[in-house]
Amino acid sequence: MPTHAPSSFSSSPPSVSVIGAGIAGTWQALLFARAGYPVTVHERSDPELAQSTSIRAGGMLAPWCEEEAAEPLITRLGARAMTLWRDHVPDAVFNGSLVVAHPRDRADFERFARMTAQHERIHDNRIGEIEPALAGRFRDALFFPGEGHVEPRRVLPALHAQLTAHGAEIRFASRCEPDDLDGIVIDCRGLAARDSESGTAAAGLRGVKGETIVVETSEITLSRPVRLLHPRWPIYLIPRAENRIMIGATSLESEDDGLSVRSALELLSAAYAVHPAFAEARIVETGTGLRPAYPDNLPRIDIRGSRIAVNGLYRHGFLIAPALAEMTLAYVREGSIDNEVMECN
Ligand SMILES: Cc1cc2nc3c(=O)[nH]c(=O)nc-3n(C[C@H](O)[C@H](O)[C@H](O)COP(=O)(O)OP(=O)(O)OC[C@H]3O[C@@H](n4cnc5c(N)ncnc54)[C@H](O)[C@@H]3O)c2cc1C
Repeated sequence: MPTHAPSSFSSSPPSVSVIGAGIAGTWQALLFARAGYPVTVHERSDPELAQSTSIRAGGMLAPWCEEEAAEPLITRLGARAMTLWRDHVPDAVFNGSLVVAHPRDRADFERFARMTAQHERIHDNRIGEIEPALAGRFRDALFFPGEGHVEPRRVLPALHAQLTAHGAEIRFASRCEPDDLDGIVIDCRGLAARDSESGTAAAGLRGVKGETIVVETSEITLSRPVRLLHPRWPIYLIPRAENRIMIGATSLESEDDGLSVRSALELLSAAYAVHPAFAEARIVETGTGLRPAYPDNLPRIDIRGSRIAVNGLYRHGFLIAPALAEMTLAYVREGSIDNEVMECN
């Protein structure tokens, strides 16, 4: 049972403070602001969010591709979140995603097809029609038409602008702890939550390192994320503005923040195997980010009175953040509890 009375809204709504303007905090703040709550967001970084994981993400919205490796909960949350992305974010692109494999990795391809849903098997001509850069390169592919993607560095500022337009205040360069604030506090500090005294809800959080390389090329244009299945070096290629493509991402049990030579070789070799024109592309950026994960790699909304911590978004933060925000709002408004995600302490 909730340990504080959910807001009945009979008088003026209680104030809501959100700590962290990464993708989790931003969606929480947006849905509360849209529902009429006075919202203040505190973010320790500047508006570029240099200290967030979110700014380093691929931004794929791929609930069905993720079925291959994630728990059914992620697909449930992700499928719901797709509607919220469509309803609230005009910048989100819904061109679907494509999964390919080289002939020698046929078994991986068939396994992926069996483990996932909501895809169509398409063949060489059709691949060339929807993604001309890949014409003649793969015999068949899995096309997930309902999936989408966003560019984190564009969509976060756009969401922050929406937040302000709905009357919320965002305070950058404002580091604070949940206990510093009154009213309803939604703690979305990501991995940093485990560093503080009030981080009990964050016990067990770890960072799972992801490395990426962004290249610029006018030779290859993609309209949607492309995943290459490979037994050792699975990669994805995500279109970015200005002829750029993000190649990602490793998944390493490490909190080191450098890109290793091994990872760079693997990411670039795998991209080259998708299309040899990657050899002439210009490397414009390398990056690493730490995905905040609990031991079971599942997200959690931890409720302690009026302190609510939303964390553990792991490799699905962009995909599931809207659905988690909707659940938090439903809890505060009506006391609804989703037992798979929420814990009341
Ligand atoms: C390489 C890579 C690729 C990824 N690709 C995808 C993808 O394609 N699709 C997908 O869905 N997910 C993807 N992810 C996962 C996704 O990025 C994470 O799940 C998500 O960013 C976590 O968001 P968050 O808001 O919880 O944490 P963060 O983004 O880290 O946000 C936390 C914020 O809290 C702030 N903060 C911390 N402490 C304080 C404090 N005391 N006071 C004020 N502010 C504070 C931080 O500065 C930060 O901005 C990827 C991750 C990586 C690393």
